[in-house]
Amino acid sequence: MDQTRTLGETKLQVKRIGFGANAVGGHNLFPNLNDETGKDLVRTALDGGVNFIDTAFIYGLGRSEELIGEVVQERGVRNELIIATKGAHKEVNGSIELDNSRDFLRSEVEKSLKRLKTDYIDLYYVHFPDGKTPLAEVAGTLKELKDEGKIKAIGASNLNYQQLQEYNADGYLEVFQGEYSLIQRDAEKELLPYCEKHGISFIPYFPLASGLLTGKFTKDTVFEDSRKDKPQFQGETFIHNLKKVDKLKAAAEEKQAETAHVALAWLLTRPAIDAIIPGAKRPEQLKDNLKTLDIELTEDEANFISGIFK
Ligand code: NAP
Repeated sequence: MDQTRTLGETKLQVKRIGFGANAVGGHNLFPNLNDETGKDLVRTALDGGVNFIDTAFIYGLGRSEELIGEVVQERGVRNELIIATKGAHKEVNGSIELDNSRDFLRSEVEKSLKRLKTDYIDLYYVHFPDGKTPLAEVAGTLKELKDEGKIKAIGASNLNYQQLQEYNADGYLEVFQGEYSLIQRDAEKELLPYCEKHGISFIPYFPLASGLLTGKFTKDTVFEDSRKDKPQFQGETFIHNLKKVDKLKAAAEEKQAETAHVALAWLLTRPAIDAIIPGAKRPEQLKDNLKTLDIELTEDEANFISGIFK
């Protein structure tokens, strides 16, 4: 499989399997994380040839960016990497609010640059809309930052179809990040077609449906993190999902491949998806996900797999 792609119409050349680093320093998102394991995850990604790392301020309130920055400095590989980060979350008296104002985003980019120990960010996403700042204006702030060389490409995440169009009113949007996997297909209705039509790269988050698509869970699995509150892991929906994953497992076995690799390879067959950013808690998981590059799905196989989850 061709391993490198340009993200949409940007100048960013990424390996098709990146690394989603929300478990690197993301102590506010997952229990029992350890910073040293987080740094090992980044080192493992680099050793495995990954050149596309996805982080955000909210992953550990800057800790993920700091740990990535430390490893990138230690390895001296800044120029070989595409680093994506996101902002919009603001700490106010111990709670988190969203802010897309020009002043706030500009100051957040400066703070991300410091934490990442760099003088440019390859791809900056507005993480969530704040519900008040006009979205074309928000994209305009990022355009300003791009013109100044602080960021190299303009991203947005978690917008609905209407918001996506508003954000892209001046055609500035280059990369969109939204939830999408074999299990969560809503983006197929409007978001993916819009991105495809406008040359915007779509980066799917939760590509493994938070581990569900690895096939490792059973109806008796007990979740201790945010999965215990997610609809995909609840009651009848969970049982239904497990049955579909069993069918995926059978399809993978027929191809002598692992379930997770087939689920990730399927995403790479979709239009507008140049790269994926599976997450990992342990270096072995990260290494395992990179094996996705060893398999290629035919159109018939991709359609069959798609049908299992329709
Ligand atoms: P994901 O990629 O769907 O699932 C990752 C989780 O699955 C891992 O943390 C691990 O959890 C398990 N896993 C991964 N590889 C495995 C393997 N080979 N074998 C067994 N288990 C494996 O979910 P995600 O990491 O939350 O999402 C991916 C990335 O998208 C994030 O890291 C983040 O960068 C980004 N993201 C962005 C947004 C946004 O709002 N823009 C939202 C969410 C995520 P366990 O070991 O605990 O099961």
